[in-house]
Amino acid sequence: MAAAAPAQETFPEIRDGVRRLCVGFPGAYWRELDQARAYPKDFVDALTQAGYLAALVPEAYGGAGLSLREAAVILEEVQRAGCNGAACHAQMYTMGTILRHGSDEQKRRYLPEIAGGALRLQAFGVTEPTSGTDTAALRTRARREGDHYVINGQKIWTSRVAHSDLMLLLARTSPPPEGGKRTEGLSVFLVDLRTAGESVTIRPIRTMMNHATAEVFFEDLRVPAENLIGEEGRGFRYILSGMNAERILIAAECIGDAKWFIDRAVAYAGERVVFGRPIGQNQGIQFPIARSYAAMRAAELMVEQAASLYDQGRDCGAEANMAKMLAADASFEAGNVCIQTHGGFGFAEEFDVERKFRETRLYQVAPISTNLILSYIAEHVLGLPRSF
Ligand SMILES: Cc1cc2nc3c(=O)[nH]c(=O)nc-3n(C[C@H](O)[C@H](O)[C@H](O)COP(=O)(O)OP(=O)(O)OC[C@H]3O[C@@H](n4cnc5c(N)ncnc54)[C@H](O)[C@@H]3O)c2cc1C
Repeated sequence: MAAAAPAQETFPEIRDGVRRLCVGFPGAYWRELDQARAYPKDFVDALTQAGYLAALVPEAYGGAGLSLREAAVILEEVQRAGCNGAACHAQMYTMGTILRHGSDEQKRRYLPEIAGGALRLQAFGVTEPTSGTDTAALRTRARREGDHYVINGQKIWTSRVAHSDLMLLLARTSPPPEGGKRTEGLSVFLVDLRTAGESVTIRPIRTMMNHATAEVFFEDLRVPAENLIGEEGRGFRYILSGMNAERILIAAECIGDAKWFIDRAVAYAGERVVFGRPIGQNQGIQFPIARSYAAMRAAELMVEQAASLYDQGRDCGAEANMAKMLAADASFEAGNVCIQTHGGFGFAEEFDVERKFRETRLYQVAPISTNLILSYIAEHVLGLPRSF
C-alpha cells in the first residue's frame, strides 16, 4: 500500500481500474505535453473508452449511473497517479445541467452520445473579463429573434472549449427585475460549437500550467431556441445546482494530488542520504509531511461527507464548499512540503513535483476562489452580515 493510503479504502475495484489505466500515462507523457502546452488526447480517449467520464450519466442514457462518491474516487485516483483530470473532468459533470433542467427531448438527444464519448460537452462559459466573480454583472447578451437567440459577448477562462463539441453558456436575456435579484434574467444555452462557424472565435490563453483554457468571443451567434435549457431567465439557478458536484469532484482531485505529493515526499525522504543518514530520519523533515497527511485525511473526510449528502439528495452547499477549500489547501501545502523535502530536485522537471505543484495551485482560485468560499461560510453558515 502506498504511504498516503488510509487504512481502508473505499471502492477498491474502481481505484484499481483507474490505477491500471493511469500506468500507461507516466510522468514522461505529462512532461512532454506540459512543455508543448498540448492536450492529453490519448489519455482523454483512454478514460472515455473505459467509460469513466460517463460515470454520472444514468444507465437509462447509456452511462454508468454511478454515485458522486464513486465519480470522486475516479478523479482522485487519476490525480494520485500523477495524471491531470483537468483536461476532461468537466465531461463528467457539465451534462448534469441538461440532466436536471433539460427537456426530455434534450436529454434523449444529447445524453447517450455524451455517455458514449461521441459528443464532448466539457466547456462551461460563465466567467467574463469584466464581471469576474460577480456573475450577475456579466455582459454577454442573448436576444430572441423568432425561433433563434442571437448571442453577442465574450467569455474568459473557458477551459477545454477548443476540445469540445458543445458548450454551456450563461448569457443575459433580460435586465434584472426592478428591486429583484440581480441574478434573474440570466439564461443557459447549449451551444453547438461544430456549427458555430465564424460567429465564435476561440483564443487560447497560455498559463503557468498545461491547461487548455481560452477566451471566447461571440459575434451574432445564432442559437436555436430549442437549445435554451429550462426556462428563460432562470439560468443562474441551474448553474448553481451544478456547482456543488463540481466542487466536490475537484476537491477529490485535490485529495489525489495531496496523496501523490505525500507519497513522493515519503519515498524521497526515505532514500535521500545526507550527513550519513536518510533525511527522513530528521523530525524537521518528518513533521511537515506528517502534518500534511493529517490535513489531507481531515479534508478527505469532508469530501466524503459532502459527496454522501449529495448522493442522498440532501443540502450539501456548506460541505461542498468546505471540502473544496480544505482539500485545495491540503494539496497546496502537501505540494509545498514535497518540494521542500526534495530540496533542489523539487525544482527539476524530471521529478514532476514542480509540474504537479503548478497544477494544484489553480484550485485556490478556480472554480471558486478561497475568499468566496469563506464568504459563503460566514454568511450562509454563520449568519454574519452579507458583505457584497
Ligand atoms: C485556468 C483557469 C481555468 C478556468 N476555467 C473556467 C471555466 O472553464 N469556466 C469559467 O466560467 N471560468 C473558469 N475559470 C474562471 C475562474 O472560475 C475564476 O478565475 C475565479 O472564479 C475567480 O474569478 P476572477 O478570476 O474573475 O477573479 P476576480 O473576481 O477578479 O477576483 C480576484 C481576486 O479577488 C478576490 N475577491 C473578489 N471579490 C472579493 C470579495 N468581495 N471579497 C474578498 N475577495 C474577493 C477573489 O477571491 C480573487 O482572489 C478558470 C480560471 C482559470 C485561471
